Amino acid sequence: MSPTKETLKSVGAMVRGVENEVEIGVAVIGAGVAGLYATYCCGISGLECVLIDALVFTGGQCTALYPEKKIYGVPGFNDVLAKGFVESLSGQCTTFAKKLLLGKKVESISVTEDDSFVIRLCDVSSKQQSHVNAKHIIVATGIGDMIPSIPRAVLENNSNDNPPDFIQHCCIRVDFYKGKNIVVSGGGDSAIDFVINVAPLAKSVTLLHRRDKFTCEESKLKDLDNLHKNGKLQLLLEHSVSGIEKGNVITVDKNSKKIVLCADHLVFCHGFLTSCGSVFGLQEQGLKMEGGLVEVDINTMKTSLKNCYAIGDVVLYPNKKRNIVSCFFEADRAVRMIKNEIASRLS
Ligand SMILES: Cc1cc2nc3c(=O)[nH]c(=O)nc-3n(C[C@H](O)[C@H](O)[C@H](O)COP(=O)(O)OP(=O)(O)OC[C@H]3O[C@@H](n4cnc5c(N)ncnc54)[C@H](O)[C@@H]3O)c2cc1C
Repeated sequence: MSPTKETLKSVGAMVRGVENEVEIGVAVIGAGVAGLYATYCCGISGLECVLIDALVFTGGQCTALYPEKKIYGVPGFNDVLAKGFVESLSGQCTTFAKKLLLGKKVESISVTEDDSFVIRLCDVSSKQQSHVNAKHIIVATGIGDMIPSIPRAVLENNSNDNPPDFIQHCCIRVDFYKGKNIVVSGGGDSAIDFVINVAPLAKSVTLLHRRDKFTCEESKLKDLDNLHKNGKLQLLLEHSVSGIEKGNVITVDKNSKKIVLCADHLVFCHGFLTSCGSVFGLQEQGLKMEGGLVEVDINTMKTSLKNCYAIGDVVLYPNKKRNIVSCFFEADRAVRMIKNEIASRLS
């Protein structure tokens, strides 16, 4: 028997409307692209859900780290900035949330005897505590607290005579660099995307990378090449930053030969250190994790805990790709599984 929208709703229980106590079928934790799309999938499947995020805005990394960068690899979105993409996605998805709990950090989750969950929240500004009772949870917490990765050697060899904002991370908006001389360190997608966006605005851009080639799509390499040919970009391969002195970036090549580059800012695009560690105490209750990531079965997005699913950048499975399209696929799959599970219980 296939459940109707109404029966699915009744299994999901109801939102009581009391601010510090919510009871729901599905709690989606994290309002990045994975959580947003999971909320949409719940809505169109007739499952009631709450969407929770510690930030006061939706979009996770896209909004917090690269709002002014173009989004790549999302079908139907060509030449769109991350902020525009998130605005469109949020508009499509958040109407499906029975409750949207922003600015609420999940502090801990307890598994109850009947394999449902008590999620304890703390309001980030008022510190007021509340909780949500949910039958199913979808963990979509991305990379958790995002700490930009900057080489230790650079931090140690950074003399005090440098301007305080000299070292930066690519999360800052691109228009900040208009008319400035910048040195960018990195060789992956985030470095290349940043350089392609910033080069038309900046006075000069030097991109240095410790390896002899970049790790990105072929089309982006062509863009880099064009910028280089048009004199908008200087490339230094097999170079890394060894220190900073009086606003000069000191680089060394593989033969330890030094080059001094004069710049207004040195921008690191070396990714982030994650601080996921344990997911809300669930590891101690049977959630399998490795290296701060939640292990899931790619066929179902199920974790090792009953009724607990995980999607997006927080998950680990063979050949996992950390991109937006994977988030969508995983969200769709997790919600389908929850719906099937409820359906088989009702039949
Ligand atoms: C610089 C950069 C450029 C990128 N460019 C592209 C691109 O062009 N194309 C592409 O496909 N991918 C790109 N990516 C990758 C893409 O952004 C990610 O794969 C995607 O955003 C991950 O989404 P998510 O929802 O899994 O996680 P996140 O976006 O990290 O969202 C997780 C959310 O969970 C919340 N959260 C965490 N812990 C708690 C807690 N305890 N309580 C409540 N809330 C919590 C966080 O506040 C956050 O909002 C890029 C990534 C970076 C860093």
